[in-house]
Amino acid sequence: MSLIVQKYGGTSVGDLVRIQKVARRVADTYDKGHDLVVVLSAMSGVTDHLLQMAEVITDTPDRRELDVLVATGEQQTVALLAIALKNLGYKAQSLLGFQAEIKTDSSWSNARIVTINPDRMKALLAQKTIVIVAGFQGVDPKGNVTTLGRGGSDTSAVAVAAAVGADVCEIYTDVKGVYTADPNVVPKARMLKTVTHDVMLEMADHGAKVLQIRSVEFAKKFNVPVHVRSSFCEEEGTMIVSENQDMERTVVAGVTSSKKEARVTITKVPDQPGVASKLFAAVAEIGVSVDMIIQNTRSGNLTDITFTVPRADYKRTLEVVKKVASAIGAESVAGDENIATVSITGVGMRTNRGVAAKMFETLAENGVNIMMISTSEIRITCAIEEKFADQATRALHTAFGLDE
Ligand code: ADP
Ligand code: ASP
Ligand code: MG
Repeated sequence: MSLIVQKYGGTSVGDLVRIQKVARRVADTYDKGHDLVVVLSAMSGVTDHLLQMAEVITDTPDRRELDVLVATGEQQTVALLAIALKNLGYKAQSLLGFQAEIKTDSSWSNARIVTINPDRMKALLAQKTIVIVAGFQGVDPKGNVTTLGRGGSDTSAVAVAAAVGADVCEIYTDVKGVYTADPNVVPKARMLKTVTHDVMLEMADHGAKVLQIRSVEFAKKFNVPVHVRSSFCEEEGTMIVSENQDMERTVVAGVTSSKKEARVTITKVPDQPGVASKLFAAVAEIGVSVDMIIQNTRSGNLTDITFTVPRADYKRTLEVVKKVASAIGAESVAGDENIATVSITGVGMRTNRGVAAKMFETLAENGVNIMMISTSEIRITCAIEEKFADQATRALHTAFGLDE
């Protein structure tokens, strides 16, 4: 007998027929003698729809209330699954984030889990009740509803698995596992049997939305075995493993692309100590995280600074940057909302030379101009025009020998 956490994503609970299929699958696992905590997302499209409703009223909805609103998507699915399981004759109970005592900080729409008190979940499990937890949501120290950022149910699931001491956390989604590239963009992508935590962290951070990055952080920190698999078949999927359990060991494990990026450039900034710190402190102040940064020196003690931010934060960022730019005596601020990044990631990059050159050459052969470059020990990322993102992803997938 094991203690299993199963998370079902939006497509897997996308309509009432699918919710009943999930109920059947959960029931089958329970019948094998396992204890079960099930974490759910909202039905696919519901979170977007809720956000759009608020946007009809205003461009800048109150951020606390927005969390109250979007958290309702998961409230629907947990109740429906509990109803379906009870209808099949099983003991089940839904818990919202606050009832499962998933405690977070107060960063609206991007809250971080601080602690989880597993007592109520464990008491239900001891009574052989299937526990169904609303993903994506938590509660802050003042009792406010918070949400964990898009894709946050993955993080809820892995954090709950760590808190209750589960033997495995199964992430059920609409693809068979983690692939060498998004299988919806690259038809020749291959499923990976294993992916290391570090590679998965980089891939998740650079566009592979199959797992939210924070779920991988939890898996690594608390040693939670994570199995990404499909809710539409029985096949085994991908295990997220530590580096010494890795079987693949390829130079490049995956190619990812993130489309929703934007770029901001401040030109002719006086080249003095403190200028960059003023600029990026102001951006951090409004809670925007900057990804790539480049600074070019011009003649005459002037410099240009360019950086990228998530497109959703572009307008807020531009407003703040314009204010700082005039305060520090920069000439102008320009921006571009149609930026994407393509990245290649793999542990083998540490010991192989020529990987970057091959990436740049492949992009050049495809007529793709590189705007910015950033690297880590195991990843290279290029910012490019968004219209080339899919083509560049496929070309890099072929160039690094990943095609099936
Ligand atoms: P869920 O609703 O189950 O959480 P998501 O839509 O958040 O599912 O994540 C699954 C999607 O992630 C897939 O449909 C796929 O298009 C996308 N994806 C992007 N990169 C990858 C990758 N490398 N491997 C698998 N899926 C990927
Ligand atoms: N429903 C939330 C979202 O769409 C959380 C999730 O699906 O993981 O982002
Ligand atoms: Mg998801």
